Amino acid sequence: MKDEGRMSRLEPAIDRFQEAHFWIHSLEKYYHNAEAFRWHLNVFLKAIKEVMPIARHGLQQEQGFKEWFKTHESARSANKLLRKLAKSRDFIVHQGMLGMESYGSVGITEGRGIKLGFNVRIDPLEDSDFAMRNLIYGLAVHGDVFGFLAEDEDSMPCVERHWRLPGIEGDIVDACAKAWLQIGSILSELIEWCGLERPDFNLSCRHSSQNLHFKIYDRRQLRRMLHDFRAEPDFERAADSEDASDLSEDN
Ligand SMILES: [Zn+2]
Repeated sequence: MKDEGRMSRLEPAIDRFQEAHFWIHSLEKYYHNAEAFRWHLNVFLKAIKEVMPIARHGLQQEQGFKEWFKTHESARSANKLLRKLAKSRDFIVHQGMLGMESYGSVGITEGRGIKLGFNVRIDPLEDSDFAMRNLIYGLAVHGDVFGFLAEDEDSMPCVERHWRLPGIEGDIVDACAKAWLQIGSILSELIEWCGLERPDFNLSCRHSSQNLHFKIYDRRQLRRMLHDFRAEPDFERAADSEDASDLSEDN
């Protein structure tokens, strides 16, 4: 039977849960921006951690709730992942990005994966733009021997990046999404327990893996960057530096 009172006591938890959903999209949006990524990870972890305590607080006086909660395996397994994530949050707050692992490569993509790549360690403290800038500077000095900046309709320069946290398997945003879905499955059971139809919380709105991990760059802008480097007064180009194609014209 639908119980308006119960449901209204569950609302604050659902609100925090939706807030966490919003932060997942912020993590996608700022995946290539080191500081903003860490700040949004911090608020996501805070929000998702609070959902169940808020739900329990709201429903604790309801008859049968404590028994319900105790007997639900989903609640226990979600708690396990959350404990891990809570530890990660302490880690992020106290040690900043020093322990976060970030790696990737700079190269060329044709829309799926990376075609030609230079493996680089992407500094967790730096934006992906910085890795691209470093590559362009190298090309300015040593020449674009591979034709990285030569016009090509079928491919695009890119930075591929990944973030990990020690103790957490796989990509950080994937782990956050998994935690959200686990909490979502308990919440939907609770909503049913309150007498409403059980909702389906899903993350089909998430970015594709290609969209998340790859930042695409415009060749014309990169060529301009290369020219700007070469135009700096103290710039020294390597003696044997040669470009595979003519980069002087921006067409
Ligand atoms: Zn969404």
